[in-house]
Parts: sequence; structure tokens; C-alpha cells
Amino acid sequence: IQFIHSSVNDIINRALKLMSHHFQINNVTIKTDFKVDDIYVECDAQRIEQALIAILVNAVEAMPDGGTITISLSQEMDNAVIRVSDEGKGIPAEILPHIFEPFFTTKDKVKDTGLGLAVVYGIIQQHGGKVFVEQTSIKGTTFKISLPINHKKQ
Ligand code: ADP
Ligand code: MG
Repeated sequence: IQFIHSSVNDIINRALKLMSHHFQINNVTIKTDFKVDDIYVECDAQRIEQALIAILVNAVEAMPDGGTITISLSQEMDNAVIRVSDEGKGIPAEILPHIFEPFFTTKDKVKDTGLGLAVVYGIIQQHGGKVFVEQTSIKGTTFKISLPINHKKQ
């Protein structure tokens, strides 16, 4: 893993661009809300991008009839904070404690590996950050990722 001074705004934009066709064919509209012009963290940009994509794929899958995904970026204390919100049906309380476990899935076990969020968790850990479900209800789910701005390389 290589930590390089990288713009979080750019990482989000790259992930969204890679996914644009996937959004289109699933009737998903993207709203971005960058509350800071440019925020830099020491990170492996490709891994952060990969983590965002896994969360975005889940958000699309949570809205089989389409909808809006909102992705925001802000600074909170010494952290870059990314929030991804969908308009899906939410995560039931009884499964919430398990979603970051490897191989945990409520989807088709042949198609879906249940590895997405376990990989996300590992990547964010490697950066000294945090990832969790900030809120979930029948109206949708918000994942919050925070990455320390001054992360010291291990
Ligand atoms: P997979 O997508 O292969 O099932 P993940 O690790 O990506 O595995 O997600 C684990 C589980 O967490 C999913 O099966 C689903 O039940 C739940 N989940 C994740 N993201 C969302 C979301 N945005 N809305 C509703 N449920 C979600
Ligand atoms: Mg997934």
C-alpha cells in the first residue's frame, strides 16, 4: 500500500465517472455536494476509489426501481468526511451488526459474494479511518466514511 497526497474530490469524481454507465442503466441520478473545494489526504487513491465503488454498487442495488444517490464531501475536525446516501429500503436492525463481515450477504449467494463491505472496512482501516452506517430507515441509508487528513504512514 502506497500513501500519496491525493485530492478526495478527484477520487470521488473518478469513482462516479467509472460508474456513470451503471447509474444510467439503473435509472440512478447522482447528486454531489462538495462542501469543500479541495481536500487532500495521504492515501492509496485507487483503494479509496475501490471502497467508494463497493458502497455505490450497494446503493444502486438497494434501489431496484432507480432513485437518487447523494454523495457529499466535507471537513469535520481533522477528517475528510464522505457520505453516500441512497433512497433504498434501508438495512434491518437485525442484520446491521453483520454487514461488514466477510461473506455476509442478503442477496443471491451465487452472484453476490458478500465481500464488498468487508473489503471497504479493511481499506478504510488501513488509512486509520472509520466507516459505518450513519442512518438507515425505510427511506434509505447513509454510509459515512471519515479519513484522517494527517494520517501518518505506518
Ligand atoms: P453483497 O453486496 O455482495 O451482498 P456487501 O458486503 O456489499 O455484500 O453488503 C453486505 C450486505 O449489506 C448486503 O447483502 C445488504 O444486505 C446490506 N447492504 C449494504 N449496503 C446496503 C444499502 N445501501 N442498502 C441496504 N442494504 C445494504
Ligand atoms: Mg456489495
